[in-house]
Amino acid sequence: MSHRETHVTTCVLDCPDGCALEVEVIDDRVASIGPAVEAGTSFICGKVANFHQRLYHEERVLHPLRRTGPKGSGHFEVISWQQALEEIAERLLAVRQEFGGEAILPYHYGGSNGLLTDDLLDDLFFARLGASRLAKTICAVPATEVAVGMYGKMPGVAFEDYARAQCIVVWGANPRGSNIHLVPFLREARGRGAFVASIDPRENFGPGEVDLHLPVLPGQDLPVALGMINRWRTQGVLDEAFLREHARGLDPLLERAAEWTLERAAAVAGVPWRDIAHIADRLAESSPAVVRCGWGLERNKNGAQAIAAVLAIPALLGKFGVRGGGYTLSNNGGTRFDRDAVTGPLEWSTRRLNMTQLGRQIDPDAEEPLDPPVKMLFVYNSNPLVSTPDQNAIERGLARDDLFTVVHEQVMTDTARWADLVLPATTFLEGTDLRVSYGDYVAGGIRPVIEPVGEARTNMQLFGALARQLGMIDTAFSWSDEELLRRAVGALRLAGAPAESTLAAGSRQDYDFAGATPVQLETVRPLTADGKIQLTPTQLGPAPYAWLEPAADFPLALVTPGSDRLINSTLGESNVDTLTVTLHPDDAARRGLASGSPVRVYNRQGEVHCQARVSDKVRPGVVAMPKGAWRRSSLNGATSTALCPDTTQVVGGAACFNDARVEVEELTA
Ligand code: SF4
Repeated sequence: MSHRETHVTTCVLDCPDGCALEVEVIDDRVASIGPAVEAGTSFICGKVANFHQRLYHEERVLHPLRRTGPKGSGHFEVISWQQALEEIAERLLAVRQEFGGEAILPYHYGGSNGLLTDDLLDDLFFARLGASRLAKTICAVPATEVAVGMYGKMPGVAFEDYARAQCIVVWGANPRGSNIHLVPFLREARGRGAFVASIDPRENFGPGEVDLHLPVLPGQDLPVALGMINRWRTQGVLDEAFLREHARGLDPLLERAAEWTLERAAAVAGVPWRDIAHIADRLAESSPAVVRCGWGLERNKNGAQAIAAVLAIPALLGKFGVRGGGYTLSNNGGTRFDRDAVTGPLEWSTRRLNMTQLGRQIDPDAEEPLDPPVKMLFVYNSNPLVSTPDQNAIERGLARDDLFTVVHEQVMTDTARWADLVLPATTFLEGTDLRVSYGDYVAGGIRPVIEPVGEARTNMQLFGALARQLGMIDTAFSWSDEELLRRAVGALRLAGAPAESTLAAGSRQDYDFAGATPVQLETVRPLTADGKIQLTPTQLGPAPYAWLEPAADFPLALVTPGSDRLINSTLGESNVDTLTVTLHPDDAARRGLASGSPVRVYNRQGEVHCQARVSDKVRPGVVAMPKGAWRRSSLNGATSTALCPDTTQVVGGAACFNDARVEVEELTA
């Protein structure tokens, strides 16, 4: 007789929606995953509905593995956890002895992790070793820095309040791929007569879902926003009374905006000026009006400046103070997590290496080699070979015989394949964590719904065991995952109040602001030092709102947006589609290409062989390749990051994926 039970848990994958999941378990195997309707989630995405395929996938890493063949060959032998721990500890000590602690580089990112499994025990462990620190720049850094500078991470408009808005501008976001729970509210608002616009190089919405799509060229959101601001300035519709009372730094923004007539902005952005004007006018005349600012517009060298200009819009027009009016970026502004209260203050002041430039840090052919060189790379929560710019340099680095690479992973990713040691990692259905959504105002304690598959261990178990192996004496390394969760919940505040202790038992907590969703500038206020909105924050550097002309060394701008098949590179083991590059029909015709044509996409940095897909969903002059696709989906084993530069922004040293410029031609035998 089978044993059947259901569990409610919270999704931790990198998505703004903090879905409650109902997981059906039969005989300790996950049988199905669906929405936990009573916990407030009415539907979930197909990616997570099929997540159990990852649990039992043939490429699941079940045991510690040691490389037996050449690097990258994917040949491994099973070893015990104890052997793995001893070997890693020995290597860590040897590298530290010979080259110093900074020759050890932890490489990780926490998009699909909660508060326990990234930047907690792992940081304590690597700090104790004196390892290099990692600047986590791959995503969200410009947006976060700018938002903090302008508003002090003021909580944003809740998605359900979009239904009240009269004007909604979705800028650099694709809620149909990620953040799908926003879509019904957009529909509802539109049904009530709201104007909905999308600003994005790609058309992300279906017929009748938006009133106007502005297919701005990648990297040109800043001129569009400044052009709008200039129009409002000359029309005299700026809310001067509001700005006098609540904002600082207006003049530098207006001075820069004055350089941008709508015609000039339209010319560089490759869109009709009348469409920019139309969106600007609807924003100015509507209330509530809200801007959903995504992360798409930050992925280029003008990214931070563009985000700042977009976030200034509701302040300039006085759109705050009503429910459904203002902006949304990340909604984790309502949370405070005091990491030091959990593990104690960290003393860690070694060099900081920018994760976006991993390639040049480990590449044996690098023009400026690091001193000390990276001799040990410890990868977890990350798959840099397909998610970090300059794939070819990263591969050359991973191939080095003198670089020892450890990867803690759930499945045999492209990066894990190059490792010297692969360690089996739990998924969120097998481990303990604490998730605070960055979209919905909800937190969830995560408790295992099944036993770990194979010998998988959580990050905390891994770093605790390694620390003990190395004789580290911090008590935190001896805590159970449950104990760590309990302490983390105690260090968490939600909307100013302590988190409920029941989170430690795996429950969920919706939190609110003064009994409801937040109203910006009314129930939630700028959390800047003086409580004012800083329209020209110091984070923008010495030339705020200055526009840098995008590169034009190749004729087509490459964008690498997320898809509804992958979450970053997660699920690439199952959702293997043939890699495509999507071109506009005009660009395809000019090159004699049709859908299905094998093509070579190239620039000076690399080339990707894949299949053409012809669609007017991308604008002329832009081609799109999915973010995070695994190398097996490509005809030559290279994916989009082989074409993406590892250049960085002034703000936060952030990645500039969308600065890639390429050419596409038919692939001949
Ligand atoms: S990925 Fe997003 S939409 Fe899908 S289940 Fe998780 S939170 Fe919900």
